[in-house]
Amino acid sequence: MEALHKKIREEGIVLSDQVLKVDAFLNHQIDPVLMQQIGDEFARLFADSGVTKIVTIEASGIAPAVMTGLKLGVPVIFARKHQSLTLTENLLSATVYSFTKQTESTVAISPRHLNSSDRVLVIDDFLANGKASQALISIIKQAGASVAGLGIVIEKSFQGGRAELDAQGYHVESLARVKSLTDGVVTFIE
Ligand code: 5GP
Repeated sequence: MEALHKKIREEGIVLSDQVLKVDAFLNHQIDPVLMQQIGDEFARLFADSGVTKIVTIEASGIAPAVMTGLKLGVPVIFARKHQSLTLTENLLSATVYSFTKQTESTVAISPRHLNSSDRVLVIDDFLANGKASQALISIIKQAGASVAGLGIVIEKSFQGGRAELDAQGYHVESLARVKSLTDGVVTFIE
């Protein structure tokens, strides 16, 4: 997706050969026009997948997920990282090791929002080792729902997450595929 590649080239900051900072348009400040284009693109790519719900993780997945849900006309659920006093029922949950924070946390969704007739599209900001995606897939399966596919804004293809999801047979669409971050330069798989 050319507009996203351009934005990453112009405003992304390579923090190391493993980590890309995109807080100018995705992870802190949000570019709504770009988010709308991202939502339109995911909606086009998954138009024939029978999606009934979108699932993401708070906070950075919410913006692209909502724009995709708007275009597809389906609800968006974000897995919560913190237990809320208002979430009192038995939750669907999974542990996820955070690549950027290097800590393990639990993410949870209320079973009221997912059921066995749902076909769920997972949306996330980054795909690195795939821990966040695998946690969401686990929650979707606990609900008895099926996975329609995964839409990733930025995939770091040099890490293992994409290969694992491909091996599991999931339909994965990444709008930017980063081949390397070596020497402070972002190189894409075109
Ligand atoms: P994974 O679970 O696939 O290992 O990592 C994906 C999650 O870690 C994403 O939800 C994202 O929040 C975070 N993440 C992974 N790599 C990066 C990165 O290079 N930059 C930023 N900003 N977040 C990342």
